Amino acid sequence: MLLPGLCFGDEHVDVVVSACLLGESCRYDGGSKPCAAVRLLSGKVSAHPICPETAGGLPVPRPPAERVGSRVLMRDGTDVTDAFVSGAHACIEMTRTSGAALAILKARSPSCGIGSVYDGTYSGRLVRGNGVFAELLEKEGVCMVTEEVVESCRPSVEHPVAIVLGTGLGHLRSLVHPVRRIDYHDIDGFPVDARPIEGHSFEVTIGTVDDVPVVVYPGRIHLYQGYSASEVVALVRHAHRLGCRDIIFACATGAIPGNAHTGLGILTDQINLTGVNPLVGDSSQRGLETPFVNMNEAYSPYLRTLARGVADDLGIAVEEGVYAGVVGPSSETPAEVRMLAGMGVSYVGMSTVCEVIEAQALGMNVLGLTMAANYSGEGAVSHEAVLEGAQRHADDFESLVRGILRLL
Ligand code: SF4
Repeated sequence: MLLPGLCFGDEHVDVVVSACLLGESCRYDGGSKPCAAVRLLSGKVSAHPICPETAGGLPVPRPPAERVGSRVLMRDGTDVTDAFVSGAHACIEMTRTSGAALAILKARSPSCGIGSVYDGTYSGRLVRGNGVFAELLEKEGVCMVTEEVVESCRPSVEHPVAIVLGTGLGHLRSLVHPVRRIDYHDIDGFPVDARPIEGHSFEVTIGTVDDVPVVVYPGRIHLYQGYSASEVVALVRHAHRLGCRDIIFACATGAIPGNAHTGLGILTDQINLTGVNPLVGDSSQRGLETPFVNMNEAYSPYLRTLARGVADDLGIAVEEGVYAGVVGPSSETPAEVRMLAGMGVSYVGMSTVCEVIEAQALGMNVLGLTMAANYSGEGAVSHEAVLEGAQRHADDFESLVRGILRLL
């Protein structure tokens, strides 16, 4: 059965969801696989439940099926590929109609599975690949995540959201109902002699924003101040030790002409041009299993898609693009700006790249937001100009972050 599109929440962020995760009894065994985190999110967005297998006319209950190459076979050998394909196409139509840019799908299912599915031996073994519906969704360019990703991004008192704020963006700290403050100088690995530059503060605020547990870092240190990559990422290690699994990095940048405009941006990827990396050295001493960290999807596609949905819903102008991190503190030359433009860079700044690498090494979910105060290549930009730019976009930035927090 194909379930009708149901809108559970007030937000206009459209999300397609495997119906069994919402408690619908549509699985092969007649049951469901309700997921509390997915149900919670579905109560805040416009959730559109789908079940590709029942949409393809398969009954409930039914014998289990697994993918065998391009086919789908039931345990008794019955070929049900046609039903799976027709159900997947029906659900694709529904996805298009809904306008959803995000799909939350049941992991490992022969229809809804993403990245890995059972291998056709009914032994519990997995192989790389997508389910039949997920294959089609991928071609549509829809961001797909499993219920496990939604669960891992859900904040709680034990797992607050860390927010690291850059130049001029520290006012967000005033939204926090504080329960505790920590001086940066009490953070392990943070340089004892470091003093905040204008627009930054060196006091961690732990508390809630709109009842969402957060840990806010309203300032950072930079490589251009002479600090090491390890010192620069001490805040990230601290957030991880406090239990944070989601971390939002906000930074001031310059927009690369032709690739981005000034204003707010969501970071999609990064290029580390600083010449340093916080993972260099003895990783075992720092509790890392390996220094060879996978940087694919370093900026969580799930969090990016939520951020995009919130921005669109609130009518906030936000672009998306690749961030290049440089040491600074001198501004980019015209030749460097041309090079960055040719490399596909949208934003350039003097922070964030090392922090994102460290967060990725620690298994955290990263969202990168930027406020581009000027166009790179326009010459040296005063600190005051960056602060002014941040002030102009302060309300939108605040609305965006609060909207994202509400959805998590
Ligand atoms: Fe239906 Fe997908 Fe759940 Fe299977 S995993 S029961 S196809 S919604």
